[in-house]
Amino acid sequence: MSALSPADRPVVTRVAPSPTGMMHIGTARTALFNWLFARHCGGTFLLRIEDTDRERSTEAAVQAIFDGLDWLGLKADAPPVFQATRAELHRQAALSLLDTGRAYRCYMTVEELEIERQKARAEGRAIRSVWRDHEAPAGSNAPYVIRFRGPLEGETIVNDLIKGPVRFQNKELDDLVLLRSDGMPTYNLAVVVDDHDMGITHVIRGDDHLSNAARQSLIYEALGWAKPAFAHLPLIHGPDGAKLSKRHGAQAVSEFADMGYLPEGMRNYLARLGWGHGDDEIFDDDQAIAWFNVADVVSAPARLDWDKLNFINGQYIRQADDARLADLTLDIHRSRDVHLHAGALEALTRAIPLVKDGAKTILQLADLTLFVLKARPLELDPKTKNLLTDETRARLGRLREHLAREAAWDIVSLEQAVRTFSESEGVGIGKFGPALRGVLSGGAPAPDLASTLTALTREESLGRIDDALSQSQQRV
Ligand code: GLU
Repeated sequence: MSALSPADRPVVTRVAPSPTGMMHIGTARTALFNWLFARHCGGTFLLRIEDTDRERSTEAAVQAIFDGLDWLGLKADAPPVFQATRAELHRQAALSLLDTGRAYRCYMTVEELEIERQKARAEGRAIRSVWRDHEAPAGSNAPYVIRFRGPLEGETIVNDLIKGPVRFQNKELDDLVLLRSDGMPTYNLAVVVDDHDMGITHVIRGDDHLSNAARQSLIYEALGWAKPAFAHLPLIHGPDGAKLSKRHGAQAVSEFADMGYLPEGMRNYLARLGWGHGDDEIFDDDQAIAWFNVADVVSAPARLDWDKLNFINGQYIRQADDARLADLTLDIHRSRDVHLHAGALEALTRAIPLVKDGAKTILQLADLTLFVLKARPLELDPKTKNLLTDETRARLGRLREHLAREAAWDIVSLEQAVRTFSESEGVGIGKFGPALRGVLSGGAPAPDLASTLTALTREESLGRIDDALSQSQQRV
């Protein structure tokens, strides 16, 4: 690690999730802000997996973090650091604090600690141990923890880049356990040692860690290390302003992916949770990187706004490459057990540009493209069957011949063809349009007539009309 203070070194940020469950959307936003800030400053973005809690950490949760960051396109600039592999370094730091008198061995039993906890609460002060001022019991090999010898007076100021100076009275900060009796390091010690060793210049994380910043500042000072800058992000709340919870719907990054949001739409939306650039609603990564500064994050909690997320994602679907959307949509159809014929991908690629303006998510894109995947002969829905009176069948038969004579099969020509047919029949399009649409789509959502015919191709469109006319003939 460089001897330069963090303020004089190139920016290094990190996201440090604990792998104890799903990857939360708040972690995704923290990762994004760290990534944006590092990119903005031409610095480095790192990932640390805080797996010191061996009982709660799982392989699956580690994988969920990797997958979530991958999906979001937030690639760390170096392989991940696993905190648990660094326990020996954490222990050495605790021992060095013992040597300098900034930590002490505490032999309190669980019962004694409980009594002290109650007393401290009653007296409105932080927990202290009698062992703070006493040597080890002679000849004792009783189990002990190593506690930090916190200052009893004065204050610790966290100069938070978002919240400004936040003052903590030292007498209110407990003498933290640094090493447990089994020799395992605790969170606050591990974070300080790791952030120092990884050369982190800016600690950007959720504001549930704000008071830890005061404790960690004291540990930095005791170890004689320069502190990083701190920036604590407001939490994400639900649309009603309450802390985000299950009843607000999705919370895991994987759920947003499953709901059909695009990663770039998600990045744009998450960037707006607590930060913004004027009234700009839609911006790409380059703009976000150019504009983002962690100091511009607001300190009030951000609210998850589904309408806004849907609007933003819809904009990204419009801009997205159709072949990519076709692949993503095909996956959704596959997961829904829709029969995928050999030409399915091609059919989706044809249909997508014609319907995507109406889709906010890939799931909606799948709903809007189902009609092209239906296999002939289509099962007609009751409404369409009702529309197929003798008169309409006869008219559709004539329309079929009219369309078959069309030289060009594109939206403009087909719109024109439908109009000239309606004129030659002397009836409005409303007299045959709904029936034609039903025959072409089997009752699934479909765009306007000309787009539907174009998406299906000439052969498939005429075939579907023929199927419907022969089915309805059989019926009578
Ligand atoms: N592991 C902590 C968490 O998941 C984050 C610690 C930090 O960023 O300092 O909440």
